[in-house]
Formats: sequence, structure tokens, C-alpha cells
Amino acid sequence: MIPKSAYKYFVKQTAARLGFDYCGIAKAEKLNDEARRLESWLNKGFNGSMSYMNNYFDLRVDPTRLVPGAKSVITLLLNYFPAEQQKTEAPRVSKYAYGKDYHEVIKEKLKNFLTTVQQNIGEINGRGFTDSAPVLERSWAVKSGLGWVGRNGNLITKNQGSFFFIATLITDLELEPDDPFAKDYCGTCTKCIDSCPTEAILPNKVIDGSKCISYFTIELKDMLIPTDVKGKFENNMFGCDICQDVCPWNRFSKPTREAEFTPLNEVLNFSKNDWEELTEESFKIIFRKSPLKRSKFEGIKRNLKFLDS
Ligand code: SF4
Ligand code: SF4
Repeated sequence: MIPKSAYKYFVKQTAARLGFDYCGIAKAEKLNDEARRLESWLNKGFNGSMSYMNNYFDLRVDPTRLVPGAKSVITLLLNYFPAEQQKTEAPRVSKYAYGKDYHEVIKEKLKNFLTTVQQNIGEINGRGFTDSAPVLERSWAVKSGLGWVGRNGNLITKNQGSFFFIATLITDLELEPDDPFAKDYCGTCTKCIDSCPTEAILPNKVIDGSKCISYFTIELKDMLIPTDVKGKFENNMFGCDICQDVCPWNRFSKPTREAEFTPLNEVLNFSKNDWEELTEESFKIIFRKSPLKRSKFEGIKRNLKFLDS
């Protein structure tokens, strides 16, 4: 068994061995400031029709409600920046969706992570999350020293920018926390605000989710996209990377080492015509493991039509 003094080192080594790019640790405690900010964001309706965000408010802001006796929150970052990008003239797919669905990839890694820690440290309890439960991932990432939240609402690392998935593991294992990330390196830059086609980025790092292209193209289930955003999608068919692509910190992005995120050939090479001629049957086969299935075939077709209208 690992001695207590080496727990933190072991946790970080395990994260690296499983392919995570960064790992930070914070003390599990209620997030009071974030609770106030989240409440105000929800009250303003910035979650649009994503009503699930209203659920479990108390759990979202307090990890000890999610895992009884929680002592530590471990944040893990997994780079998804692709080595190759789409043909520019085709309808655009957000880079996070080029390969296999990250939920599946990360779920597996978190399971392995917990088992390894249990086998080497002992009977600890823990729950892993990635986008799948009410966890304020970015706040935990900042608290554990991994980066800052930029004006575009993304977690930004100083070494490699923001193209990362964030996974969180809440555990009753007591670990020495890392120092929080105290600085904000956005400085006077406003590139993301200036470039957002739908003016979804508001002052003070507030994102109006109900105006974001990612929301319209992925989360909105209505068959009609509001006409006031017509002509503003800049060829984005599934998600949007504009506010990350323009961020100066992303010039430090490096290609992912995760083989599961290798882009699908179809995503890289489909022409506009290929997308338009795609049948439901082929969609279900080609994208069965892809995040694109979240929009379903009808959603993809709706988005394509909207780009053309
Ligand atoms: S993802 Fe696109 S639409 Fe959404 S905030 Fe960023 S630039 Fe604006
Ligand atoms: S584009 Fe500029 S303001 Fe926006 S997140 Fe990046 S550094 Fe911050």
C-alpha cells in the first residue's frame, strides 16, 4: 500500500498514466461565490431551454452532497485539439466532436482511475463526472490551480490553451490541495467578445447560453431555429469554436495524444454536398459513436438547412 505522504504523487501519476494532460486537487467544500453566480445566471434565463440546468442546484454547489464525506475534488483535463482540421468550405463541426464521444472515453478512464486508487490506497469512495452531473467543473479546475476562466467562459491553461475536456472526481480521500490559480491572463484582450457572431459573450465572463451557436445547433430541440440569428452562424453546423479559435492562448494548443479522438474521415473530408446527401441510415452507422448523435439526424438536417436559408 502507498504511504499517506505519497497519496498526492500517486494520484497525479495515475492521472498521467491514464492519459490525462493535467491533474489538480482542491479541498471539497461548498462553492458559495459560484452558487450566487449560478443562481443569477439561471434567473436571467441564460440557460435557454436547457431546463435540466435548473435541477439539483444544492448538489451542484456542494460536493459533499454528491459524495457523502467528500474531502477532495480531483480535476482532470484531457486535450482534444485535433492534429488535422476540416476542409474549410464544408459546414463546420466543433473540434470536440471530431472523434469518439468524450463521455464514453472519459467514463472509462475515470473508472480505471478510481479502481487503481482503491487498489493501491484502500477502501475509498468516489464518483467521477464529466458533463454528466451537476458539477461546476471550471470552478474546480481554477481552485486546483489548472488555469483561469477566460472571457469566453472556457477554462484556459497557460501552457496549452483551452481545447480540453474537464473531468471531475469527488472523493472522500483526503489529499493535500494544490494552490488555486490566482491570476487572469485575459488582460485587455476582447477578441472572443468581438468575434462572437451572436453576441453571446457578455461582460464579466457571463455567457448567454441561450444565444450561443452551440446551443442552437446541439441543445435546442425545436425544429425551428429563431430567425433573428439567421445568417449569423458562419457555417457552423454542429457547435462553434470561434471564441476559442481567436483566443491568443490557443496558439499554444498541441495535438491530442488520445487515439479515441482521432477524427472520423467523414468529419474531415465530407463536402457540403456529402452532408446534404447523407441518409439517416448512413448517419446512424457513421456517427454511432460520435457526439453528433446528440443532435440526431433531424437536428443535423435542420442545421444544414438553416445555414442555407
Ligand atoms: S461558441 Fe460561438 S456562439 Fe458561442 S459564445 Fe463562442 S463564439 Fe459565441
Ligand atoms: S480571446 Fe482574449 S479575452 Fe477571450 S478568453 Fe482569450 S484571452 Fe481572454
